[in-house]
Amino acid sequence: EAAASAASALRDTGAPTVFDRILSKQIRSTVVYEDKKVLAFRDISPQAPTHIILIPKERDGLTRLSKAEERHEEILGHLLYTAKVVAKQEGLDDGYRIVINDGPDGCQSVYHLHLHLLGGRKLGWPPG
Ligand code: ADP
Repeated sequence: EAAASAASALRDTGAPTVFDRILSKQIRSTVVYEDKKVLAFRDISPQAPTHIILIPKERDGLTRLSKAEERHEEILGHLLYTAKVVAKQEGLDDGYRIVINDGPDGCQSVYHLHLHLLGGRKLGWPPG
């Protein structure tokens, strides 16, 4: 059972994710920005001095970027614009990186579309 649910967490099953529990406040998170459509909170396992996750409050089928449809254009644009606003708020004046992991090859583990905002140090390129 535990192994099955761990495996399903790594596949695009459309099941609820940990981000639903963050949205409903069943799980605590450190929220850094919120509006009607987007929530931004600190990653629990930061890969840089600043590591923030931005998610749409309504998943609306957007388990991953490759599931995006035309109706999602507005929220996708809003997420990216909000990443810029949060980067400014976090004082990332020397730059930062936005990442979207898609699917197994992208190492996506939570199937609720999200942007990673990473900064606060010089980041390596190419990624692993
Ligand atoms: P990966 O786990 O490979 O980074 P994702 O792109 O799906 O794949 O990222 C999910 C992110 O969500 C991870 O960076 C992980 O640390 C973060 N995360 C998982 N659970 C929580 C939580 N409860 N609070 C904050 N961040 C979380």
